[in-house]
Amino acid sequence: MTQLPPPSSRRLGLVIDLDICVGCHACVIACKGWNTENQAGPLSDIDAYGAAPSGTFLNRVHSFEIQPETGAAQVVHFPKSCLHCQDAPCVTVCPTGASYKRVEDGIVVVDEDACIGCGLCAWACPYGERKMDALAGVMKKCTLCVDRIYNNNLPEEDRKPACVRTCPAGARHFGDLGDDDSAVSRLVAERGGYDLMPEQGTRPTNKYLPPRPRDSTAEIDVLAPFLDPVAETPKGFLGWLDRALEAL
Ligand code: SF4
Ligand code: SF4
Repeated sequence: MTQLPPPSSRRLGLVIDLDICVGCHACVIACKGWNTENQAGPLSDIDAYGAAPSGTFLNRVHSFEIQPETGAAQVVHFPKSCLHCQDAPCVTVCPTGASYKRVEDGIVVVDEDACIGCGLCAWACPYGERKMDALAGVMKKCTLCVDRIYNNNLPEEDRKPACVRTCPAGARHFGDLGDDDSAVSRLVAERGGYDLMPEQGTRPTNKYLPPRPRDSTAEIDVLAPFLDPVAETPKGFLGWLDRALEAL
């Protein structure tokens, strides 16, 4: 009897730093661009320049204002794509086996030839990270740019997901979260990285790093040195300007 190879401990995924993301959406555009032109593409665009554009995007950034109990309000930009769950309900419910988790690196992908477009995986994913492509009639999702990260035709520095390679702020990190010594695992340990909605029991591979608390506005009044009251009778250039304006 043929022996199956043991499952790999590799768990490739993203670590997203909510303290750093500035909500520029560069990752959204890079994801759309790469995945439209390459293996997962095309990603549909409907009425792209019309009144009601819609399309398939595999990565989104949501922005929220939060008011901590003390201190200044904060805006948090929250990028979200498939989290490559270890216990992925999208895989369990798929009736054809089109959705599967790769043994060698834990990436969750869809075999589009086997997908019948029933939408069960989208219903099962608690994060809303399955995207039915309206034109292709099949389910699409983040592949962690599997066609980049192993692509020997690309320079080594480009063998990362397009979103990670593009992020101008350095808010996105890619690596093996199954290796406790990897740079991403150490970052998660140092910064208290956490799972999104752990109560769902999906054990997502991707992690989020929380925003650091901000100083209170009183402590960061950087304009204070410039806010000295103006003398009642300004002198010098300001005095001349004042008198010139009064003469008009
Ligand atoms: Fe599946 Fe959703 Fe988890 Fe991705 S985030 S593996 S689509 S359940
Ligand atoms: Fe945030 Fe980076 Fe995406 Fe810009 S590219 S929205 S900074 S994660």
